[in-house]
Amino acid sequence: MNENSIYQKSRQEVFEVGEKYNISEEKLEEFLEPDKILEIKIPIKIDDETITFKGFRSQHNNNLGPYKGGLRFHPNVNKDEVMALSLWMSLKTAVVGVPFGGAKGGIAVDPKQLSEKELENLSREYVRRVYEILGPQKDIPAPDVNTNPKIIDWMVDEYVKINQKLKNKSQISKNELYATFTGKKKLGLSGRTEATGFGGVAILKKLSEKLKLKPENTTVAIMGFGNVGYYFADFASKAGFKVVAVSDSKGGIIKRDSKGNFIPLDIPLVYECKMEKGSLNGCYCAGGVCDTRGGQLITNEELLQLPVDILVPAALENVITENNMQNIKAKIIVEMANGPVTPKAKHYLIKKGVFITPDILANSGGVAGSYIEWEQNLKNKTYKKDDVLKRLEKLMFSAFENVWKTAERENTNLPEASYLVALQRILK
Ligand code: GLU
Repeated sequence: MNENSIYQKSRQEVFEVGEKYNISEEKLEEFLEPDKILEIKIPIKIDDETITFKGFRSQHNNNLGPYKGGLRFHPNVNKDEVMALSLWMSLKTAVVGVPFGGAKGGIAVDPKQLSEKELENLSREYVRRVYEILGPQKDIPAPDVNTNPKIIDWMVDEYVKINQKLKNKSQISKNELYATFTGKKKLGLSGRTEATGFGGVAILKKLSEKLKLKPENTTVAIMGFGNVGYYFADFASKAGFKVVAVSDSKGGIIKRDSKGNFIPLDIPLVYECKMEKGSLNGCYCAGGVCDTRGGQLITNEELLQLPVDILVPAALENVITENNMQNIKAKIIVEMANGPVTPKAKHYLIKKGVFITPDILANSGGVAGSYIEWEQNLKNKTYKKDDVLKRLEKLMFSAFENVWKTAERENTNLPEASYLVALQRILK
């Protein structure tokens, strides 16, 4: 096995669970391999030059419904990563109980280096090159790391245009065309932007109930302040949890009183500051005089090692590894990123008694929201945000209860129970 392959490692992890619960090896092998992987070149004009980017779409499995999963724009996107992420999507849609399979895609690019027009051209060119394999009953992309509703809107628009050009092909209605992408602004779902963070906090609430934690006595540190991390922070603090540390790719902030105790952060204020300054760096002063408020800048590594009750990695994969697992002090980890804890670190931490709520459960609110959006488009309706969030919370609670019961019945941890629930549904 290639030690650096994140797909091989995640495959191995799932395989071990399957073996333990006597799931047929043949079926497992068949499931684990992605159904189809598309690797494409995406040339676009930048100034006077043509620059070619690499793009991917891994359609992992569609036993339970159309392939479903996000598209990320990040310099580290590669075939191996996309394969792993697509496998996790297959498991995630099954755990949260929506009728989708799993997929993932992306482009190896640093979108921050592109102008808005270049980004638009790249997004549209991607769609032109994967058009054939997409569709409301085939494969439905969504936002992921560094992609957002605006990018998805360009993509839908391109998808609609291509469809209009190919008039002789099977005509599908406007709603169906729009149902081919989720996380859109135009004809999108009110509540979809918040869905992943909101869903994560629904899981956090259930977990706190089970573990008898009082939100007002529970400190939370969140790594990542993008769409997922920010909404998680916001909903968690509204639910009464003490969010004491947040960070983005440049570093994080905490505040302490004169005795060194954490002071909860004012999340809306921190958000406002981040919008103004472009990064969290410097936001420790937000809302008051820094010196008297005990604001402090920390690195991402320091955030991971804070003595808080709950640690929420909500950025990228592989941040808790063999290199830092010994220094993790939190008693609970809620994985809001995909794959933030490596399998080895997971084993070590679980053995040490750390309670891990796995990504495929904790961050499944995003794809559950996507399901509601897809349904809204196919039924040609416009759902209200309150109703959406209520429905989403129900889906999350029921997914959690199911995984929790499975963990109790099998006398095991939540990551293993989540895999088991997913595999049993997919391979039934
Ligand atoms: N990118 C999100 C995820 O990793 C959402 C995927 C979707 O809605 O299709 O779960």
